[in-house]
Amino acid sequence: MFIRTEGSRRRAVSVTQQQVLDALAKVASPRGVALTNANVLSAITATDGKVFFSINVDAAEARAWESVRAQAEAAVRAIPGVSVAMIALTAERKPGAASPSSGAASSPPPPPHQHRHAHGVQPVSAHKPPQSPASPMSRQAEIPGVAAVIAVASGKGGVGKSTTALNLALGLRDLGLRVGLLDADIYGPSVPRLTGIHEKPKLNDDRKMIPIERFGLSIMSIGFLVEEETAMIWRGPMVMSAITQMLRDVAWGTLDILVVDMPPGTGDAQLTLAQNVPLKGAVIISTPQDLSLIDARRGLAMFKKVNVPVLGIVENMSYFQCPHCGTRSDIFGHGGARHEAERLGVPFLGEIPLHMSIRTTSDSGNPVVASEPDGPHAAIYREIGTKVRDQLQGANAAA
Ligand code: ADP
Repeated sequence: MFIRTEGSRRRAVSVTQQQVLDALAKVASPRGVALTNANVLSAITATDGKVFFSINVDAAEARAWESVRAQAEAAVRAIPGVSVAMIALTAERKPGAASPSSGAASSPPPPPHQHRHAHGVQPVSAHKPPQSPASPMSRQAEIPGVAAVIAVASGKGGVGKSTTALNLALGLRDLGLRVGLLDADIYGPSVPRLTGIHEKPKLNDDRKMIPIERFGLSIMSIGFLVEEETAMIWRGPMVMSAITQMLRDVAWGTLDILVVDMPPGTGDAQLTLAQNVPLKGAVIISTPQDLSLIDARRGLAMFKKVNVPVLGIVENMSYFQCPHCGTRSDIFGHGGARHEAERLGVPFLGEIPLHMSIRTTSDSGNPVVASEPDGPHAAIYREIGTKVRDQLQGANAAA
């Protein structure tokens, strides 16, 4: 599995799996066995100086393994030619053990809280959503410098979640906020395509990845590191661990809002993600079709289950707008998401038409809010952004 990139053609040194194994043989497990003999390593991907693998352990021993993970990562990073080492600790619970939210997660204990407030807007950082003591959010480490993390989610793929996440991020940027975008859709990262970014993130002095700056956003995607088919092989628990690392091992700087483009669906990986990422809220994207609404309901239920406030539902591809005459046709029986939101007592954030220019601008790496900032679509995304910001600030004020 070789990744051909501009960077790989320039870089002469290539790192082999054997080199990685040799380095790992010098790291000991908590029981003193060489890591390579501890029967915990996943397949190792070592391409283009980037090394990825997971250490799979029993959840009950996860804490003891965290320092081993760090040592393994340091050992791999010390190999000449390694530019990125992403080593996930995945903890799988034995059948009959307590629920995954009960504390023995694979992530390290939360670092001290270190918010820096935004300029020009009321900081959303002070917002603490009401939490029950049992809330999994109370165990999540917040991200230093990032005032609010919000998820953009959908019950199924293909509803325009990524397109909406990016344009919503740009709409929030237009409100004067400092915004980041994390493409956590690890099964099929589309942000490289939607933004036209094909460069690799560099590392700073702390060996954290520096997000790519484009359109005034700080952007990170697993798709910047590996090609799509490589990303597809990541297993559920590894997805979580990799995303946690993308959240924490990236030098996000100071952000008002970090928009996370979630993997589609409401399976275990998504639930764990919603549970472990320090989310201030979630935006659900749905199309008007009934099936999609059923999926959207599942999304709502998932966030409710993990005590993440749903900021609202967006109806994407809400109505067809003719690119020639501008005539609107409600070909999908538009309005379903608005009614559903009302019925469920969840805010309705807006309707985005199915329009050729949204598709072409997205697919050519030049999102509509950036390429047609004065157009009607940009205005819609800004309106949705305003509602999202107000929701976060409203919750902030209430707190
Ligand atoms: P998802 O992230 O839900 O899989 P994408 O954002 O990748 O979906 O969108 C799927 C396809 O639909 C893309 O080709 C995108 O350009 C197109 N698309 C998304 N939203 C719209 C819209 N409102 N109008 C026209 N095309 C859209």
